[in-house]
Amino acid sequence: MIIVLKLNQSKEAVEEVERHVRDLGYTPHTLWGEVRTVIACIGDETEHASLEALVNLPQVYEVLPIQKKYKLISREVHAEPMPVQVGEARFSAETFQVIAGPCAVESLEQTVSTAKAVKAAGATLLRGGAYKPRTSPYDFQGLGPEGLEILAEAKKETGLPVVTELVSERDAERVAEVADVIQIGARNALNYALLTEAAKTSRAILLKRGLSSTMQEWLLAAEYIAKQGNPRIILCERGIRTYETATRNTLDLSAVAVVKRETGLPVIVDPSHAAGRADLIAPLAKAGVAVGADGLIVEVHPDPEHALSDQAQQLTFEGFEAFMREIRPYVELSGRNGGG
Ligand code: PEP
Ligand code: MN
Repeated sequence: MIIVLKLNQSKEAVEEVERHVRDLGYTPHTLWGEVRTVIACIGDETEHASLEALVNLPQVYEVLPIQKKYKLISREVHAEPMPVQVGEARFSAETFQVIAGPCAVESLEQTVSTAKAVKAAGATLLRGGAYKPRTSPYDFQGLGPEGLEILAEAKKETGLPVVTELVSERDAERVAEVADVIQIGARNALNYALLTEAAKTSRAILLKRGLSSTMQEWLLAAEYIAKQGNPRIILCERGIRTYETATRNTLDLSAVAVVKRETGLPVIVDPSHAAGRADLIAPLAKAGVAVGADGLIVEVHPDPEHALSDQAQQLTFEGFEAFMREIRPYVELSGRNGGG
């Protein structure tokens, strides 16, 4: 931590701050300036109380952290990339994966037919929610355990690894039996008990950004997973809540670029939940590829109009095939393998 003092502090006033620093277990190194003095504080913050409280001393202008709070996933500590392997699908700087499937698992026929269609069009993982976190308690909540059985069947028939959401700690083991990747949704992105239980299953974790999470909050959520000894984390930008109403959320492409500089973890883009409407999926996906995303997650349904959730944003089978054709040149241009 660096403590920046207010202008023109006396020697006694500076020494008093140094005493507080020592009391908290750190070693102060004071850099005397003509008008502004700065104190660099050395010590392990995991062992001592934070110095942040010293901002309340009358001599102190601000207290600045110099290390990232997310230690395990930060490039600062972990300079190497942290690719995630799921079956044959690799999320890395050299590859590109498309996860596709329905928003919710509704029936065996709906899920298996979608799995076959998205695989034929080039998707490499199947998505589908058995447990759905719905804004309204009156909306379809998912088939639960029956949905998991359907996903297991779709996996058996197509060989596609399964991505499915965990909404309650209670179901962690059960979901992990079927899921190759456990999704933590935007509504649960800051549910630390859930993140911890999901991490303990040792499945890869797809961590969506919270509806209004800052990048730091998102990365610290990932740190919770890594802290359980599970480094298989895929970050997913799915749009954040802003004042704009033309789209369901605002796809924050800057976040993809920033987070990729901060961490070596793979980052993918979810244009479906960002846009909330089918006609914007392709343009947003292309932008995601251009900004450096390592993959996409897209919702596809045999009959979107009659879907039990997210009707407006799901692509038809034909729509998804056309989508894959449309993004292919962009993926090629990015120099990555994959994307169908
Ligand atoms: C979903 O993937 O269907 C979902 C609910 O996404 P999000 O958590 O991003 O809203
Ligand atoms: Mn959805």
